[in-house]
Amino acid sequence: MPPNSQPPAMTPAELTWHDGVPESTRFGDVYFSRDDGLAETRYVFIERNRLPERFQALGQNEHFVIAETGFGTGLNFLATWAEWRAQRADKAPAKLHFVSVERYPLTHADLEQALSYWPELAPLAQELLDQYPPLIQGTHRLLLEGGAIRLTLYFGDILDAWKHLEFVADAWFLDGFAPALNPDMWLETAIQQVRQHSRPGTTLATFTAVGRIRRALADAGFAMAKVTGFGRKRDMLTGELPVEPANTAIQAPAGSVVILGAGIAGTTLARNLAERGVPVMLVDAAESPGRAASGNPQGALYVKLGIEFNDQTELATTALTFSQRFYKRWQGEFWHPTGLLQLATSEAEINRQQRFLGRNRYPAEVLQPVTAEEASRIAGLPLAHDGLWFPRSGWLKPGRACSVLADHPLIRQVFGFEAISLERRQHGWVVRSTAGEQVTGEQVVIAAGHKSGALVPVPDGYKLNLKPIRGQVSEIPAQATSLPEVVICGHKYVNPVDHGSGVTGATFDLRDDNPEPTLEGHRENLTELAAMVPGVGPVDDSLLSTLTGRVAFRCSTHDYQPVAGAYQAPGGQRGDGDGLYLFTGLGSKGLVWAPLLAEFLGDLLCGQPRCLPRNISKRIATGRLHRQFVTESR
Ligand code: SAM
Repeated sequence: MPPNSQPPAMTPAELTWHDGVPESTRFGDVYFSRDDGLAETRYVFIERNRLPERFQALGQNEHFVIAETGFGTGLNFLATWAEWRAQRADKAPAKLHFVSVERYPLTHADLEQALSYWPELAPLAQELLDQYPPLIQGTHRLLLEGGAIRLTLYFGDILDAWKHLEFVADAWFLDGFAPALNPDMWLETAIQQVRQHSRPGTTLATFTAVGRIRRALADAGFAMAKVTGFGRKRDMLTGELPVEPANTAIQAPAGSVVILGAGIAGTTLARNLAERGVPVMLVDAAESPGRAASGNPQGALYVKLGIEFNDQTELATTALTFSQRFYKRWQGEFWHPTGLLQLATSEAEINRQQRFLGRNRYPAEVLQPVTAEEASRIAGLPLAHDGLWFPRSGWLKPGRACSVLADHPLIRQVFGFEAISLERRQHGWVVRSTAGEQVTGEQVVIAAGHKSGALVPVPDGYKLNLKPIRGQVSEIPAQATSLPEVVICGHKYVNPVDHGSGVTGATFDLRDDNPEPTLEGHRENLTELAAMVPGVGPVDDSLLSTLTGRVAFRCSTHDYQPVAGAYQAPGGQRGDGDGLYLFTGLGSKGLVWAPLLAEFLGDLLCGQPRCLPRNISKRIATGRLHRQFVTESR
């Protein structure tokens, strides 16, 4: 045993250096990320605890308390101090308290070397180094910046620290090494202590996304959320102790179904269940139904049928014809069965349609081949391409459809509830919101579009294969060009005029998360529309700059098939009986898929005969979505 490990001397950290980045020899993990550790600290701990705005909001002589598990090199502390200085520069004096615990403190020399990695923090690092205490167990108080910043550094074990120290934190940095490498730091007793040193409104952030930690923190009362991690790390966790007492839960009445998401999936299902006599609680973050991906002013009832009449084509055909029957009730209200032309505007599509027609015979009420001349007559404007005519299709007002469908006496609508987590209880599920409210119910259906993946409690090491794809639509004023009398689809689609304009779109932007319409998006929509409908164009910038539009994020799966069914965990850990269902992944065909899949889920939830045969329900099952990924380190 080295002499300095004799109490009260602490055992110092043993470090291995890799290009200036210290690694703990004992734990085999890094103190900070090799990919810009300072940026990671800011992202994970400072921003996810919303410190910039919370620092700003403090009044004169108020104070803010941060507690940290694992002082290490002090990088988190220095970055927080720098943030405090930036936010408080022109503000009345206030105090920052930083409480941190360290069982294996760095020696002064190691600390100096580690911090020399961050020249931008040099003046603050120097002040810390000047005050850094000798490595003796116990509580060391450091007054920095003339006492504006107070650092309480506890040298000892985390459990002793939280038992002996008296403080209430406003924010937590949970920064031990990875739970797999340092389980002691993440013991349930330690997590319970975190709760005891918190108050309603206390937040926490941690780089880890391990399910066990998330559950333990949730059990301690924190409303937990898995959010995108820094850099190459997929996820991390944030939490907040609800301001409202936990008994503000809204309990769904016995026998009712909680549906998360009031888009076309959620509202068709809510309506379906309500009409079978099942009470529904329809929950959404927005203030009314159909405000996200289902909120475009117009949408086409459109599918592309495969050349082979296989399971996928059968599902698409059944869904199309079912939806045409389903929407009839609301003809003129939000459903306009004008018919729909699917034009063959490219060599590839001409070839595809020819092979499709050569291989299949569909009744004329479903689809018919038409020449360019016939298509022009149907559309009421000149068209240059042959295509397929779907006489019973048309267009909808999707946002309006969602509102109308949700309006039923057995549907209780809960809006402004942004669900962030879902946990299993002995009987059913509890859904928590960002504001700390809860909804509980025995059966829960997640129909939250691209946000669905984050809500499903997948086992550690798995992720659901769902991705958001940006789509921008443009509204063309009727006076700017001639619009068709029927829906025209090809590379893009265009709708007949409604209230002075017709919607065209949509872009398909895989790696773009801009929620606002752009000029480029309008240009793409109109240029491609002009190539499809010769009467449109040429596209000039003066028209583009006056266009209005909308951006929505479709939720797509890896196989472009929708998802509807009971949640199946990998390895069959959970079955039908558990009461969790998924209804998402409708991509850009939600208006077609939703009615039939809502009917299928209605059958499933009510234990009634299924409208889809097994070979097809298998194609849309939830289990296929799981993807495994490698687990993290610190
Ligand atoms: N926040 C640090 C920084 O900014 O450099 C990095 C923290 S490092 C990832 C984790 C720290 O937790 C290490 O310094 C380690 O010695 C400390 N630690 C590990 N187990 C501990 C325990 N049981 N009690 C107290 N500290 C512990």
